[in-house]
Formats: sequence, C-alpha cells, structure tokens
Amino acid sequence: MRTAIIGGGIAGLAAAYELEQARRAGQQVEYTLFEWRDRLGGSLSSEVVDGTVLERGPDSFLTEKPAAAELCRELGLGAELTPSNDADRKTYIVVRNRLVPLPDGLMFLIPTKLIPTALTRLFSWSTKIRMGLELLHPPRPTGLPDESVAALVERHFGRETVDRLADPLLSGIFGGDSAQLSARTVLPRLVEMESEYGSLTRGMLAAHRKMRERAKASAQKAKNGKFRSIFTAMRGGMQQMVDALTARLDPASVRLSTPVSGLEKTAAGWKVDAGGATEIYDAVIMASPAWAAGTLLGPVDAVLGEELSGIPYSSSITVNLIYDEDQIGDLPDGFGFLIPVVEGRAMLACTFVHRKFLGRTPTGKAVMRAFLGGMKNEALMGAPDEALVATVRRELTEILGEEIFPRETAPEHTQVSRWPRAMAQYAVGHQERIERIAARVAALPGLKLAGNAYDGIGIPDCIRLGSKAAKELIAASGLASQRAGKLTSRS
Ligand SMILES: Cc1cc2nc3c(=O)[nH]c(=O)nc-3n(C[C@H](O)[C@H](O)[C@H](O)COP(=O)(O)OP(=O)(O)OC[C@H]3O[C@@H](n4cnc5c(N)ncnc54)[C@H](O)[C@@H]3O)c2cc1C
Repeated sequence: MRTAIIGGGIAGLAAAYELEQARRAGQQVEYTLFEWRDRLGGSLSSEVVDGTVLERGPDSFLTEKPAAAELCRELGLGAELTPSNDADRKTYIVVRNRLVPLPDGLMFLIPTKLIPTALTRLFSWSTKIRMGLELLHPPRPTGLPDESVAALVERHFGRETVDRLADPLLSGIFGGDSAQLSARTVLPRLVEMESEYGSLTRGMLAAHRKMRERAKASAQKAKNGKFRSIFTAMRGGMQQMVDALTARLDPASVRLSTPVSGLEKTAAGWKVDAGGATEIYDAVIMASPAWAAGTLLGPVDAVLGEELSGIPYSSSITVNLIYDEDQIGDLPDGFGFLIPVVEGRAMLACTFVHRKFLGRTPTGKAVMRAFLGGMKNEALMGAPDEALVATVRRELTEILGEEIFPRETAPEHTQVSRWPRAMAQYAVGHQERIERIAARVAALPGLKLAGNAYDGIGIPDCIRLGSKAAKELIAASGLASQRAGKLTSRS
C-alpha cells in the first residue's frame, strides 16, 4: 500500500511514524510525507536561547489525554517529560487593569464554592445573585439544536460571566470567540448536566463528589510518586518531539517545501500533484488544515470540499520576552493572566513561563509569553514584529504596574511567531458537520482525515487521529492482501 500524507504537522508526523513502524515490521507499506514548509512539526516549534526554552507554538499538552506522553515514551523521551508546576498554579483575569484571581472552586466555568464566589472581585453583586438563583434553573428539553458557549453561559449566569470568564478562558485555548464556539462540542459535560439537572451548579456539585473521590486517589498516587500534573511539557521544548519523530522516519519518504497542489481520484488510485510531479497512491491521509484539505478535495467531491472549507480557523501570535529578573519587580504568584476581549487590549493572555515549568529557564531569568490575535483581532497578524513587542511591553506595564514592569526596561531577547489560520474553531453545529464529512469520506476508499479540525484541538488528539488514520489504512490493506491471498490460493 502506497500512502501520501499531506501535511507534516504533529498529526501527519504521527501518521507517518505509524506507517514507518509497519514498514519496518515487514508489512507492504510505503509512504510519502508532503510538507509545504521547509520544516516538519507545523505549529510545534521551539528554540533554546542561552539555555532558555522558548516555545513559538504550543508549550505543553494536557496530561490527562494519554496519546502524547505515550508517544514520547515510545520515542525514548520519557525522561524529558516535564510536569507543570501545579503547586504555584494560580491564574488571574484582568478586570479594568487589575489582576483578579480566579475564585477558588471554579470548575469548568462553574462556581461551586459559596464564599470564594461571594467574595471575588471578578463579578458584580448582580451576577453573584444570579449565580445563586441559577440553582433553580429548569432542565433544557432534549433535542434542541446546538447553541454557542456564550448563549449557554449567559442563559445560566448572565453576560458578565461570558465576558469575564468564558471568553478569556476559551480564547486562551482556541483563540476563539465564545459567541461562535459550539457548546455541544466544546463543553459537552455542561450540556449533559443541563438536560439532567437544569442547574449547572447543581450538576457540577453532584459531579464534585466523584471528583473528590478521584482526587483522593490521585493524592494516594502522589504519595506513591505517581502524581499527574495538569500540563506536561518537554524539558527541551516541543521541538524534541518533532525531532524524535523525524529521526524515526525514512528520509527518502519525506518531502519538505513540497505543497500538494492537486488531487484526483482515478481508477488507478489517488493522483497526487506536488512539486511539479504527479504520482499515484493507494491511499491519502489529509493532515493539512481543513481549509487546505477543502481546496484539494473540492474537485474530488464538491460537497466534501465545501464542508471542509466551512470549518473556521483563527490566527494567533506568540511574543516571548526574556528578562533578567533583577530588572523587573516581583511578579504576582502564579502562572500568569488572561485578558477578556472587553478590556480592549491586543494581548489575550500572558504566561510567566519560568513559573509554569521549572528547569527550562536559567536561574535569574524571567520569560513572559504573550498570546495575541484570535477571531476578533486578525488585523494584528499584519503588524511588524517591533510594533507587536512594543504593544506587549506597554500592556504589561499598564496591567502589572510600573513598579513590577518598568516601562523603560528592555527585554534581553524577543521572539515573535505568527500562526495564520492554524487553530480550528469548533463552531455551532460542528458535530453535525463532522458527521456529514465522515459520511462523504467513507464513500471515498483510501481517504482519511487527521488534524485539529475534527475531534480535539490539542496535541494529544492530533496524535491520536494521525495514528488512527494510519492504523485503519494498515488494517484495511492487511485485509485486502489476505483476501487477495485467499483468491490466489483458490484459483
Ligand atoms: C500558538 C499556538 C499555541 C498552542 N498551544 C497549545 C498547547 O499549549 N497545547 C496543545 O495541546 N495544543 C496547543 N495548540 C494547538 C496545537 O498545537 C495544534 O492544534 C496542533 O499542533 C495542530 O496539528 P496539525 O498537525 O493538525 O496541524 P498543523 O500543525 O497546522 O500542521 C499542518 C501542516 O500541513 C501543512 N500543509 C498545509 N497545506 C499543505 C499542502 N497543500 N501540502 C503539504 N502540506 C500542507 C502545513 O504547512 C502544516 O505544517 C496551539 C496552537 C498554536 C498555533
């Protein structure tokens, strides 16, 4: 079986790795990995500057989703897995230029503790009263169409909770807009709770008991040295994962700076145009963003092409600034802060990197990582690097104060990275769209889709989907050769 993998981000790399393992195990598998850029990894890219790890794209993955850590261990990177420093975990929301800590007891956007919620400066009294009355919210009838995260949260807790909580938390994950994101896809547990309990607070409190039991179990695990942090990073940066995967691939099977420009389904197989040549493959794994997949698959199946192109994407920018800690004042405790869009700033979030992951920044250095862009601020993508750095520095001074972040203190090093249309947005109706896409793909034998547009935006989900696509093709080709073998032995 000859497979073309289109796109060398983490999803395409995971697919290529799976096929390479099968090839080495003696299966009749060949593959070509086509990547548009001159490097593999897609959004995963890191740089080490004088001993400081700077992440251009993702800085970590969720520990509870096992695919990424499992792959790292398989690649011999187990010792490089670095837990987030959860002992110092504290996140702030910026409210009128002041840092307000997220109240204790907040679970999936839902306040579950009375006193911290009553005392927090994050919400006005009218919102707090509404939060109390939410306990009486009736269940939503089942069978109603999907709605946006903003609509769900506003119905229960009011507009202020959307602006100060849902929007900043989700723009930190998706670079997205809660008025567009699908409640059913992004917050499926809350949708289920609403139909069962009506009140999300009551639903969450009921789930809390179970969570406490699990927490007890993890406390026991912690005692046994098996504590799981919320996030896991790589000691030397995400690039380690890309490099280890690349090293396992057959170099002859990897084509960099080779965008696939055309795709056709013929009786002989899939015709792939790339780099001025046309080759025939038995199978294709589309691991490019959905908008690129839509363009390529449009001529094969116009409806499928439209469905894929209809998945919205947001763009984002990361700005890393390295400082000497002596040059700045004492930063507040914690990992950093999120900035609601209603604050009218360019920055969406800022991580104190040296606090979030220990051992990746030399002693005496501080790394501020700002996240900009998102659905509501695409225009920033065109701003020059110096302007972006100046904006981040100005906003840091305005938010943290002149004493902590003196205006004139220049960073020792700056790094700006732009990620155009890199983050898929799971818009209202996403699941139905995915079901329609799956039905069209099923009618095109040999075609698989993988990547962040479908069933999970994070690194572990992209790895899972890339591996799954390859495994399914390997299994199908095994079955096909068994069938061919039986036919030959019968004839
Ligand atoms: C700034 C940022 C921060 C993030 N932070 C986190 C985080 O902390 N944790 C987390 O889990 N996730 C995070 N994510 C999300 C996660 O990194 C991505 O969802 C994931 O890496 C996407 O992988 P992918 O392989 O689907 O796509 P991509 O990485 O986008 O790779 C797709 C590849 O396809 C190539 N391509 C496109 N068209 C063609 C063509 N015609 N021919 C050949 N190649 C083509 C592109 O050049 C690209 O390399 C972040 C993303 C960004 C941008």
